[in-house]
Amino acid sequence: MTDSNTTPLPGGAGGGLPLLSSSLIKAEAARLGFAACGIARVTPVDESTASAFNRWIADGNHADMDYMNRYGDARFHPESVLPGCRTIVSLALDYTPTHRIPANQPQFAFYAYGPDYHETMKAKIRELAEAISGSSPCLPQGGGDSNNPDSSLPRERCPQDKEGLPYRVAVDTAPLLERYWAQQAGIGWIGRHHNLIIPGTGSFVNLGELLLTAEVDHYDQPIPNHCGTCHRCIDACPTGALSEESIDARRCLSYLTIEHRGPFTPEQAALVRNQPEPKYIYGCDRCQLACPHNHRNPSLTPPQRGRTQSNGNPPPWEGLGEVSLSLTRDQYNELFRGSAVKRAKYEGLMRNIETVLKE
Ligand code: SF4
Ligand code: SF4
Repeated sequence: MTDSNTTPLPGGAGGGLPLLSSSLIKAEAARLGFAACGIARVTPVDESTASAFNRWIADGNHADMDYMNRYGDARFHPESVLPGCRTIVSLALDYTPTHRIPANQPQFAFYAYGPDYHETMKAKIRELAEAISGSSPCLPQGGGDSNNPDSSLPRERCPQDKEGLPYRVAVDTAPLLERYWAQQAGIGWIGRHHNLIIPGTGSFVNLGELLLTAEVDHYDQPIPNHCGTCHRCIDACPTGALSEESIDARRCLSYLTIEHRGPFTPEQAALVRNQPEPKYIYGCDRCQLACPHNHRNPSLTPPQRGRTQSNGNPPPWEGLGEVSLSLTRDQYNELFRGSAVKRAKYEGLMRNIETVLKE
């Protein structure tokens, strides 16, 4: 992937420039409300991870999410997102809601309760990059958004680095193994439900990355997997999508209700319709809700972890249960303006609602 908005570091590793302060980066991340921040040195993705990913694709587990297969081996090389990338700052935003849609109404995955996290996350990571650069003459200024290379930030120059040190912001759609890098950055481990679990926070987090060509003075180490012999998430999955080894998107309600385009086959419709109550019409949180790491210490009150994207507000569509079958396109546009639910599009959401609610 070429990128005309970045400038390679001059010189060798680190460009002969002072190292960035990891503690300063983490302090800024905490100030901005990130639930976790870890820093990984970029090294080749380990062979077992790369081959497991390739096997997962070859077995068709990605269903028709062709973008998962679009970048080939580039997905294993952060340099494809930022040439000369040496450091990945992994960041997590907690989206655990403080209110839940009542159990007698159609359910939405927690992540969809608030505004579309992509914009929130990107804005915060850009702010982090700019805050760091304002504090240190050797930190990067300028750079861009890996999801939209044409919309890079104005390129300003670091006073001590006339070439400028580039960065990239990656949120979700860049070809990066974001959970792998989060684990490498020591902020959590990938659970059997295939989400990142952050100790003390859980798995209801959005991930994003700040990629740097610069190096830092201290890199974090991966933390071990603490799932042990637990398999509650596997037991909680109503469709058999989860196994010890893998997740089959073709059977996963998150895939079916969000990513799948067009009508359901009879088999897909049966998976969506036959789920237990309360039924999800957008996404699915069952495996994560079953995970003991999401059962927080009750003393962790909302104000302490209130730095979430959803701000603890109840979802604006609490009344959807009553209007869902007759939801018009205009109502949909109004209800879900700026929401991640737009990903399913009106047709997809109505297909889900009809599959779940029509007798
Ligand atoms: S999201 Fe739902 S359907 Fe998908 S693996 Fe988890 S429990 Fe199963
Ligand atoms: S439910 Fe148990 S096995 Fe599944 S991710 Fe959580 S700790 Fe790991």
